[in-house]
Amino acid sequence: MKEIVVPSSSHTYSVWIGEGLLKNVSKYLQKEYSSIFVITDDVVEKLYLQTLLESLPKVHKAVAVVAAGEQSKNITTYYRLQTEAIEAGLDRNSLIIALGGGVVGDIAGFVAATYMRGIDYIQVPTTVLAHDSSVGGKVAINHEQGKNLIGSFYPPAAVLYDVDTLATLPPQEIRSGYAEIVKEALISDKEAFERLLQVNLHDLTKEELQEHLSFGIEVKTAIVTADEKEKGERKFLNLGHTLGHAIETELQYQLLKHGEAVAVGLLFSLFVSEDLFQADVSFSKLYGWLSDNGYPLPAEMLDPEILLKRMKTDKKAQAGKVQMVLLKDIGQPTTAVLDDEQIVHYIKRFRER
Ligand code: NAD
Ligand code: MG
Repeated sequence: MKEIVVPSSSHTYSVWIGEGLLKNVSKYLQKEYSSIFVITDDVVEKLYLQTLLESLPKVHKAVAVVAAGEQSKNITTYYRLQTEAIEAGLDRNSLIIALGGGVVGDIAGFVAATYMRGIDYIQVPTTVLAHDSSVGGKVAINHEQGKNLIGSFYPPAAVLYDVDTLATLPPQEIRSGYAEIVKEALISDKEAFERLLQVNLHDLTKEELQEHLSFGIEVKTAIVTADEKEKGERKFLNLGHTLGHAIETELQYQLLKHGEAVAVGLLFSLFVSEDLFQADVSFSKLYGWLSDNGYPLPAEMLDPEILLKRMKTDKKAQAGKVQMVLLKDIGQPTTAVLDDEQIVHYIKRFRER
């Protein structure tokens, strides 16, 4: 079992990563709670809810289930969860447990942040991608006008990451989550990046999963500890996300998973970095690894003008120009503001590769 301690401005919490955690949740609770409200989705419910419930202390419990998928991160579902929390009699000494991927984590976290002005919650992530969403304290729901527009910073009381639960994840979800781990290596550690590229996502062991998730969480922890509210270096976690988000929005969140879109964005960042800084940041190597591991890298869906327009609505855009995270070297991220012509030029050339 691995423990990573995450400091935040409100409190310090532990992320536990290992096998068998789901069966032992009681052991990791720091306090006695008056009641426990589990929020999960209808896929994870069938797989892991029973095991979790059996491992909880004998206090009053209630469960709320949302439909699996991003569309649940909305105000209607949020309001329904608040209603169910009230009806279940939750008080200020109750605990919310988020059992599932980033969608459940984000919405359950936001319910916890706002129920009676904030009660404790614990993240029990069940996707690889959720190593990213369960740490760092950002919780949110979507608005019709955009993703994560309604939310707050509200760190969990603990994160219990049971690698056993990842055995049932579809390959596409594994790929999606690993793109963020690759990103974390790219912005922090050349050797870790080289090691990751030795990995075959089709036959991961639990040991490898534990090691990679821990690595990703340590990178994220170091960054969010130094810059919780994204005033500086937390921006570097957006490597690959400027184009990634543009692609996701363009495809209306169908076809590609978040991390798969980010993978294309990572490649693009390396492509631009190599040209702009004359740096060798392993564009070809990453391209090879992504192809070998089944990432869709569809060049034909990259329309330069349309993507440029999308990239300019990115939160990081500066005075109407695209700002991207780039690499001077692996482990040395930086940001650069690019002209419209540059972006179009690079997307065109990138598409031909
Ligand atoms: P998700 O929660 O939708 O999970 C993906 C799919 O996998 C769902 O269909 C889910 O039912 C299923 N699933 C979950 N666990 C499973 C398991 N063990 N076995 C089989 N199926 C399982 O999506 P996600 O990729 O985990 O998270 C994406 C969300 O995370 C987005 O909404 C994104 O905005 C958010 N996010 C938040 C942060 C943050 O800092 N708060 C960071 C990154 C991403
Ligand atoms: Mg991301």
